[in-house]
Amino acid sequence: MPEGDTVYLACKRLHQALAGQKLAGADFRVPQFAAADLTGVSVLEVVSLGKHQLFRFDDGSTLHTHFKMEGSWHLYRPGAQRKGGPDHQIRAILTTADWEAVGYRLPVVEIVPTAREGEVVGHIGPDLLDRAFDADEALRRIAKDPARTIGEALLDQRNLAGIGTVYRAETLFLSGIHPRRPVGEIPDLAKVVDRARRLLSANKDRPEQTTTGDLRRGRQHWVFERARESCRRCGTRIREESFGPLGQERKSYWCPSCQPA
Ligand SMILES: [Zn+2]
Repeated sequence: MPEGDTVYLACKRLHQALAGQKLAGADFRVPQFAAADLTGVSVLEVVSLGKHQLFRFDDGSTLHTHFKMEGSWHLYRPGAQRKGGPDHQIRAILTTADWEAVGYRLPVVEIVPTAREGEVVGHIGPDLLDRAFDADEALRRIAKDPARTIGEALLDQRNLAGIGTVYRAETLFLSGIHPRRPVGEIPDLAKVVDRARRLLSANKDRPEQTTTGDLRRGRQHWVFERARESCRRCGTRIREESFGPLGQERKSYWCPSCQPA
C-alpha cells in the first residue's frame, strides 16, 4: 500500500503536469460519475492529503481519489503507450493538450464540491507532510486511547495521516518501541511522531525509499519485510506478526532485542 510519501510525490508530478491547464477530456469509469463532464474546466491544483489525492478545478469541483492497496496515477504524452496495467483497470482519465493522466485500480473516485471536501476527507488527522503539520493535535488524538497499541494508533489515519506499514515498522524500530506497546506507556510520544515525520519527509521527493540512508536494494529498511533476517544493529532475528482490528490486521515487524515487549 502506498504511504504518504508516495502519494505526495504522485500529486506533485500530477500538479506539475496539469495545474493551470484546461481539460480537453475527462473520462470516469465508475458508474456514479460516468456521465460527469469536466471538458473545458481548468485544473487549479493537485494536492495530497495524507493518502488522499485531491484535484481541484476552477468550476468549484474536486476530484477525490484514493490508492488504497493497488491504485496509481500515471502520466503519458498523448498517444504514448499506457503501461499502468490493462485498460479494464482504468478508473479515470484526465486529458490536457500536453498530458494524459490515467488512474488505475482506484477504489475511490468521486467528484464533490470543493467547499465540501471536508466531508470526504475531514475525518483524517494532521498530515505529516503538511508544512503546517499540527503535532499537538496529532498527539492529542493518539493519546485519547491510551490502552491502544502504538502500532495501531500510528496506522489510524484519523490520528495522523501518512503512515503505512513501512513507516510504522521503521519508526518504531528507530524509537526502540515494541509495536504492541500501549500508547499510554510510551514516555516520549512526541519524539515518535517527529521521527515518523522526518522519515516521510526525507523520502517524499524521490520514488526510492530508504529509512537506513542506504538506497541499495535490500538495504533500505531496518526491519520492514525482513522477518527471520538479522537485525542490522544487534543480529537478533527480526519477527513479524499481523495484528489490528478484525478484518484490518496488518503486518508488523520488529527486533525483539532492540524493541523489547
Ligand atoms: Zn536489534
